This record gives sequence, structure tokens and C-alpha cells, in this order.
Amino acid sequence: MSLSGKTALVTGSTSGIGLAIACALAREGANLVINGFGDYASAVEQVSALGAQAIYSAADMRRPDEIAQMMAEAGERYGGVDVVVNNAGIQHTAPVEAFPIEKWDDILAINLTSAFHTTRLALPRMRERGWGRIVNVASVHGLVASAHKSAYVAAKHGLVGFTKTVALETAGQSITCNAICPGWVLTPLVQKQIEARAAADGIDIEAATRIILREKQPSGQFVSADELAALVVFLCGDAAKQVNGAAWNVDGGWVAQ
Ligand code: NAD
Repeated sequence: MSLSGKTALVTGSTSGIGLAIACALAREGANLVINGFGDYASAVEQVSALGAQAIYSAADMRRPDEIAQMMAEAGERYGGVDVVVNNAGIQHTAPVEAFPIEKWDDILAINLTSAFHTTRLALPRMRERGWGRIVNVASVHGLVASAHKSAYVAAKHGLVGFTKTVALETAGQSITCNAICPGWVLTPLVQKQIEARAAADGIDIEAATRIILREKQPSGQFVSADELAALVVFLCGDAAKQVNGAAWNVDGGWVAQ
């Protein structure tokens, strides 16, 4: 197990991609800090069943004070975190002139600014120990845009830029910072968009799913959360020690078009 004795924080790990990443890191022997809303007990149970020690933080990624509290709790329990996966994210779609201001602020805070806070608070311990891995769950929308997703696209492009800067500031210190850029993954976040599309077009969920995939993802298939988790494990391993500042798309060909 490549991460025995290490501690990993995965923000937004009560659901979807974050939960799959937390489980994969637990299988590699890491201790976990689970975060997010909803059924946190099930997430803690799942990583514990894989042999990991786990604590849960209810920190709201919109709140710098709560993020600092979460990092302090990780410090008290484990001495700090060695792996940070900035995964928490939300989506809202609307034309730019109708985009609700509070949604814009929430998306920027959760999908971008929270990564600044976890990273700035985790780096001193990583530098002290001479090892660290930061993986930012961006999106194909960190590389290209779609209409009606102005806040999300701005946040994810920002996250890719932030990733590159952190990579430069940590290069040569056995610390890496990379972004992964998934296409469509069938999680609650995307299920909502499929339901909205079905309602808008007056079609059933199956037809809306087919259209959504066909429009953007040439494979016509969803990326799975487990495939993304495997990439995170690779980025945390020794074979990836020179992968730094990358924005790695896993998207069935979406951004190749
Ligand atoms: P999800 O809705 O299943 O999970 C989101 C997680 O973030 C949940 O654990 C939720 O509780 C948590 N979260 C939401 N608001 C929070 C807040 N204020 N504070 C703390 N936690 C909060 O969604 P997902 O699809 O698994 O998304 C995970 C990440 O992957 C997001 O950053 C998303 O942008 C990104 N992503 C998803 C897709 C996709 O197709 N599903 C594609 C590309 C990128």
C-alpha cells in the first residue's frame, strides 16, 4: 500500500467522485479526513471498512474559518495532511445576465477559493516533511467552456491556473500539484442537469442522457468515479513524482474536438 502512514483530506467526499477517491486512497493505506454534506456517516463507514482511520469535518467550503478549523482538527488527530484532494464543487446553469449573484459567489468560493485555503494551510507541513500531493478536481470546463456555466467555467479555469502556480512554488520539493479534468460523470451533480434537460425539452431521462453525452463526449459513455480515483492514486504515487502542474483530461475525447 503506497500511502501507509499518510493522511489524505478529500473535500466533498460524502458523495460522487470525492467518495470514490476517498475509498481508493483508503485502499492505499491512507488515513482520511472526510468532508461534505449529506450522509457523512456512510462515507466514514465505507473508508473505515477498508481499514482507514477516518475523521469527519462538516466544514462549509464557503467559509475560510471553518476550513481553518478542519485543518486544525486534522493537525490534532494526524499531525497534518500529506495529500489534499480539492474536490468539493457545485454547479448552477443560467445565462450570464440572469446568473444569480449568490450562486456566482458560492461557486467561486467552493470550486476555487476553498482550494487556496486548504493548500495554503497544508503546505507548511508538506514542506516540513518533504513530501506532499495536491490534486485539484477541476473539469473539462477548466479547459474549454459551455454556455450557461459562466461561474463554473471561471472557477475551474481559475483552479487550473492555481494548480500551475502551486506546482511552480513547490517544484523540486517532492510536492506536486496537479488538476484532473473530468468530462461527464454520472453523479448527483450531473443527474440534476439531466433532469433539467429532460424537463426543458419535454423528453424522458434516458433520451436526455443520450443527448447530453452525444453533444459533448465523443465516447458516448460516462467517465466513472472509480476511473478518476485510480488517476488520483497514480498522481499520489512515486511513478508520478515528475508530473507537476498538469491538467489531465479524462473525458472520452471531449476537449480533443
Ligand atoms: P456531488 O454533488 O456528487 O458531490 C459534491 C460533493 O461536494 C458532496 O460531497 C457535497 O456534500 C460537497 N459539497 C457541496 N457543497 C459543499 C460545501 N459548501 N462545503 C463542503 N462540501 C460541499 O458531485 P460530483 O459530481 O462528485 O463532483 C465532485 C467534483 O467533481 C466537483 O468539483 C465537480 O465540479 C467535479 N466534476 C464533476 C463532473 C461530473 O460530471 N460529475 C465533471 C467534472 C468535474
